[in-house]
Amino acid sequence: MNFNDYIRNIPDFPKEGILFKDITPLLKDKKAFKSAIDAMAKPYQDMEIDYVVGIEARGFIIGTPMAYALDKGFIPVRKPGKLPHDKLTANYDLEYGSNELEIHKDAIDKGDKILLVDDLLATGGTTKASVDLIEELGGDIVGIAFLLELMDLNGREKIEGYDIFTLLQH
Ligand code: AMP
Repeated sequence: MNFNDYIRNIPDFPKEGILFKDITPLLKDKKAFKSAIDAMAKPYQDMEIDYVVGIEARGFIIGTPMAYALDKGFIPVRKPGKLPHDKLTANYDLEYGSNELEIHKDAIDKGDKILLVDDLLATGGTTKASVDLIEELGGDIVGIAFLLELMDLNGREKIEGYDIFTLLQH
């Protein structure tokens, strides 16, 4: 299956100059969605993992079925003001703007083995902020998985040294 057929390029969204990768056609197609999740979960099947952490919002769409497929619990990293309990906050830069991310302080215990998931690696700022949150809580990041990597933006440089898997490279 060519997953690329299910990724739609939207020029100048949400800002001029950004080529937005719309994954909704892939999510809508039951075969493409299931195959993509299976292919993303496969490398982690035999790895020791305690939790899958997904980044709001598209990281939830990819991360929760991966957690289900791998038989692991799921921990959300959320946009500001969404989490109800004691939390840690990190600032980060986006390809189009800046924001904050939060995690519950009691979500991760020291030494927990974490698989971090998001839909897309662009500049890597979002991922790096999430890495910092997880590590501040003592989590041990054993892998970072993305559906799609934008190669020109060199996001990998921000998260050097981690085990990174990307299903598609554009
Ligand atoms: P970054 O922090 O630059 O790596 O951006 C990654 C986050 O922003 C991901 O959660 C993506 O959902 C979103 N994102 C950034 N650039 C794009 C793009 N060109 N198309 C779709 N989503 C994007």
